[in-house]
Amino acid sequence: MSSRRKFIIRSTQASLGILATKSLQGCNTGIPLSTETNNEIQPLVISTWKHGIEANDAAWKIINAGGKAIDAVEQGVRIPEADPENLSVGYGGLPDRDGNVTLDACIMDADGNCGSVCFLQHIKHPISVARKVMDETPHVILSGEGALQFALSQGFKKENLLTDKAKEAWQKWKVESKYKPIINVENHDTIGLLAIDKQGDLAGACTTSGLAYKMHGRVGDSPIIGAGLYVDNEVGAATATGMGEAVLKTLGSFLVVELMRQGRTPQEACEEAVMRIVKKQQYKDFQIGYLAINKKGEHGSYCIHPWFNYALHKNGENKMYDADSFIKK
Ligand code: ASP
Repeated sequence: MSSRRKFIIRSTQASLGILATKSLQGCNTGIPLSTETNNEIQPLVISTWKHGIEANDAAWKIINAGGKAIDAVEQGVRIPEADPENLSVGYGGLPDRDGNVTLDACIMDADGNCGSVCFLQHIKHPISVARKVMDETPHVILSGEGALQFALSQGFKKENLLTDKAKEAWQKWKVESKYKPIINVENHDTIGLLAIDKQGDLAGACTTSGLAYKMHGRVGDSPIIGAGLYVDNEVGAATATGMGEAVLKTLGSFLVVELMRQGRTPQEACEEAVMRIVKKQQYKDFQIGYLAINKKGEHGSYCIHPWFNYALHKNGENKMYDADSFIKK
């Protein structure tokens, strides 16, 4: 990065108070800094849905080699992003109602840095563009044409992301054009991936093609820091999948992390965040699933309808688990 660019970023951060915030890290917030005190560090990778297994494997390679959680989460979610068979993330994702594949993604590190892209077209790896937004600009979110221009300036390739398989599904959908959220589409969906590295640092990444056949321009929860993903290195991290509008209305991932800050376990925090939605929204028509981890390496998960599952890589095993649900099987 040029020194002029670094200067611009530093000055902007300073004027936004970011440097001041950083200097406050480590102050007593009433929460035990578990890995920095007496608890043993429990490195792990956890992610939403079945595509999480391969994503976890890629992330774990980095964690296991002593790498940083932020690199692990980025490399992990790039696996489903590149998979043309995966109809809900990156290349091969189902398009909006007009046939455009539009992608949302965000990433957050242990220092509270974050980057996001939304309504991005033609770029296979939105998560890596989000990482560049975090690392190379003074901003948090870039959207649409601006995000595309930024990606191209960073050397990303412009590609057609609409595969024959996704196009065929869209053409079938167009016959009736019914706009109805589908619960647990083929059991795979947005990928949200959280990790703890061997230094005890946390990071998270979230990436999706969003709801199939959405209105052109629609942005969901997944690229919104605090909704689809949140990381606080003193407390824990959370991510969401399912109907983004419901998560946005409750700022779900931030809520889960704040509940953990107040002393709830990851499981209790996920349950409470689901209940906030169930109490006020038409929850029977859509699915929401939360995943959370805390600094001790404990995890939790909860969803509205059964069949939300997740992949956990911990203690040498990478396995699928079913989340408990508000509506029972
Ligand atoms: N949360 C994503 C969105 O609303 C989609 C999903 O996870 O199914 O865009």
